Amino acid sequence: MKLSDRLLSLSPSATFAMSAKSAELKAQGIDVINMSVGEPDFDTPEFIKDAAKESIDRNITRYSPVPGYADLKQSICNKLSSENGLDFKPSQIVVSNGAKQSITNAVMALVNPGDEVIIPAPFWVSYPQMVKLAGGVPVHVTAGIENDFKITPEQLESAITPRTRLLILCSPCNPTGSVYSHEELEALAEVLLRHEDVLVISDEIYEHLNYIGSHASLASVPGMKERTVLVNGVSKAYAMTGWRIGFIAAPEWIAKGCSLLQGQYTSGPCSISQKAAQAAWDGDQTCVETMRQAFERRRDLIVRLAREIPGLEVNVPQGAFYLFPKCSGCFGKTVCPSTDGADSWASRVIENSTDFAMFLLEDAHVATVGGDAFGGPECFRMSFALSDKLIEEAMHRIRNSVAKLR
Ligand code: PMP
Ligand code: GLU
Repeated sequence: MKLSDRLLSLSPSATFAMSAKSAELKAQGIDVINMSVGEPDFDTPEFIKDAAKESIDRNITRYSPVPGYADLKQSICNKLSSENGLDFKPSQIVVSNGAKQSITNAVMALVNPGDEVIIPAPFWVSYPQMVKLAGGVPVHVTAGIENDFKITPEQLESAITPRTRLLILCSPCNPTGSVYSHEELEALAEVLLRHEDVLVISDEIYEHLNYIGSHASLASVPGMKERTVLVNGVSKAYAMTGWRIGFIAAPEWIAKGCSLLQGQYTSGPCSISQKAAQAAWDGDQTCVETMRQAFERRRDLIVRLAREIPGLEVNVPQGAFYLFPKCSGCFGKTVCPSTDGADSWASRVIENSTDFAMFLLEDAHVATVGGDAFGGPECFRMSFALSDKLIEEAMHRIRNSVAKLR
């Protein structure tokens, strides 16, 4: 008895796997600081929760249309127009169970077996897995820390082949926090516009967690809206990860395809969550700016503390809530036996970033994620969506643990 071939080649989500390990240790009474999974630590704002409660009382508890309620899709169009200067019709919007499903839908709707999908590395762990599920071939284009983890137009051009179907671009980026400026997007678009069969999924889920001013969407570059699937949602901006609402805004033929798929896979997303998300997009946006400011302060704090740790190389994230330091300076090292480090690490060598994250979990009791799963094998990821106090404590522990390595 065995699972389908499709599943046998699928890796588990490294972010959720590390978070589960951290929860296991916590259940054993160990005081673990969890910097592994990326989600805001804030509560969902009250006015959004009130809208959900009201929708239950009004018995909005039945199946919604497959691509989402018409008035929610109109609210999304209003958001895209006022915040992004983009003109979409409700028929171009499909609302799904989180941006994760939105991206999966788009990949499934567009990728045929053997099609190549360009994924700038480091990347969010799920992209290559989604592509593989569709039978596609992930093509990684790597940008290092010295390039602020951003790919150049020349790199993009040389990765495109006659089999290229899609580029999946994430800005602000998980895991690096890098943000492409409008000019950088224009330069990438210039390449893309020379290859008329190449489409783009533009993952903008961290749009509002931006520390350099304004967000630039690839769809706003002339000529790109017709071939871009813009993805966004409420998880990060409104602290609504558990509500599971994301959307695509795309050319109508793609939206129709995603709706067709969703109609057989999941139906429309939770009716109550849709009403909550609509309240989020229609309501007072002060809460978004308040949370953004808190994340910016924490970004400054974690960058300062991480830079004090010998052995780590740190870039400054311009968006999202992740730090992705280079830790390869610690590879080949082991815990000096004369210190009181986690026992097993006195006889084990840190070979790679997954080992490094495991060492931090066992020795510092700080859960992070090795960069291997993100296509950044020299780095590791820390989420700084934690209180300032926990960030300070975590960095103190990491500093002590790294100091034991020889
Ligand atoms: N894209 C990126 C880059 C993410 O980090 C996440 C968060 N896991 C998602 C998409 C999916 O977000 P959600 O499904 O919670 O809307
Ligand atoms: N965006 C979060 C992360 O990358 C959520 C976990 C996930 O969906 O993989 O940690």
